[in-house]
Amino acid sequence: MVSATAPGHVVVVGAGIIGLSTAWYLQEQGVKVTVVDRGEVASGSSWGNAGWLTPALTLPLSEPSVLSYGLKAILDPASPLYIPFSTDPLLLKFLLGFARNCTPGKWRAAMKIFAELGRSGIDAFQELAEGTPALAEPTHLADPFLTGFASLKDRDALVKEFHVIRETGGHVDFTLMSGEEIRHLEPALGAGVAAGIAIRDQRFIDPPNFMASLAEAVIARGATVTTAFTVLDVRDTGSGVEVIGSAGRSLIADAVVLATGAWLGTLARKFGVKRVVQAGRGYSFTVVPEAIPTHPIYFPAQRVACTPLGNRLRVAGMMEFRNADAPLDARRIKAIVDAASPMFTGINWDDRAEEWVGSRPCTTDGFPLVGATRSPRVHVAGGHGMWGIALGPLTGKMVAAELTSNTPPASMRHFNPLR
Ligand SMILES: Cc1cc2nc3c(=O)[nH]c(=O)nc-3n(C[C@H](O)[C@H](O)[C@H](O)COP(=O)(O)OP(=O)(O)OC[C@H]3O[C@@H](n4cnc5c(N)ncnc54)[C@H](O)[C@@H]3O)c2cc1C
Repeated sequence: MVSATAPGHVVVVGAGIIGLSTAWYLQEQGVKVTVVDRGEVASGSSWGNAGWLTPALTLPLSEPSVLSYGLKAILDPASPLYIPFSTDPLLLKFLLGFARNCTPGKWRAAMKIFAELGRSGIDAFQELAEGTPALAEPTHLADPFLTGFASLKDRDALVKEFHVIRETGGHVDFTLMSGEEIRHLEPALGAGVAAGIAIRDQRFIDPPNFMASLAEAVIARGATVTTAFTVLDVRDTGSGVEVIGSAGRSLIADAVVLATGAWLGTLARKFGVKRVVQAGRGYSFTVVPEAIPTHPIYFPAQRVACTPLGNRLRVAGMMEFRNADAPLDARRIKAIVDAASPMFTGINWDDRAEEWVGSRPCTTDGFPLVGATRSPRVHVAGGHGMWGIALGPLTGKMVAAELTSNTPPASMRHFNPLR
């Protein structure tokens, strides 16, 4: 319930997974919430992602081999990591900071923090599911979650990562599979898959359906969700906040939470949030295989993520460090098709739908920015990079606890936005 120091009314900017989860948890504490978004609900990266809630794979991006990839990537537009030549000072600052974090020591330290998060991300999804009203869209058990490899050498690389997860305190329950075994379990897999790994206790969502049902629940619980409302500025008035929107609109509230994903820096910088949040753009599309897979499937060497969405398969990939508002580049879709097609059978790759590009909000150290800024009335929640869906509800819980002076989950101490 509301503590004496809790704000009565909070504006949440951004109707992605982070903004809507924050709204939901604030409502649990009896706070009135207004959510605004410059587009629609889930018009950022919360729509076209792979929807995995996979503690076993929730690992920092700053894996040391990413650096050698990076050099190749500048030269090869088909690489799963693409960095265009640029003189943008913020991009250069991000790349330098990111490279500094790609050391084995820093990577292991980051793994420890992800291990500490453990399954609490999934537990928060359970809390949403059990709330009132119940969410119409469930999370699904991956029974099991599959990874496919073109060679045993490729598989060894992931097995090594799993050993580091265990050494750093994390948990992963996996079984090695032959090519035949994995193809038997998932007949859409083709002759290109020479080996596999089955991972247990992982979950996934259908992102478009899940986001729609979360928005419905937040509205049913009393929130106003205003779309086509671009926030241009935020002011701390000393006793509250003024959220200034386009077309001369403004909102007055006791506090504001900026949950604007890859656009976080624009509004948050003047409140002391200095960390660059860089768009790590990913692409996805859907196809309808002859045998629609029932398991989510990851091809780590190809960096392609596939998720069954009922009657179709979403195929996602690429990490393109580029302006969040740049248009979709068809060459990246082609690169995903080229990487994925040898691994499947029975898919017409020309018959694609829902082609999409969206921006993972990436920070140099791989950790989100969650909590109060220099202003106690202006909070931020974003920068989750590759794992904003898995950590979305947990983040909402952290922000709501802090704003209402309750005790936030202990892992929030790693995410100080002023670090
Ligand atoms: C290809 C791909 C696959 C992925 N797969 C996974 C996965 O399997 N599991 C996982 O955990 N994560 C995954 N991610 C990452 C995940 O999608 C993101 O981390 C997460 O969606 C970020 O959520 P968000 O709410 O912070 O940002 P967003 O969803 O981008 O939401 C931000 C919102 O803020 C709004 N906004 C921005 N500026 C303003 C403004 N000035 N005024 C008003 N509104 C504004 C935008 O319109 C947008 O709706 C994937 C990402 C990609 C690209």
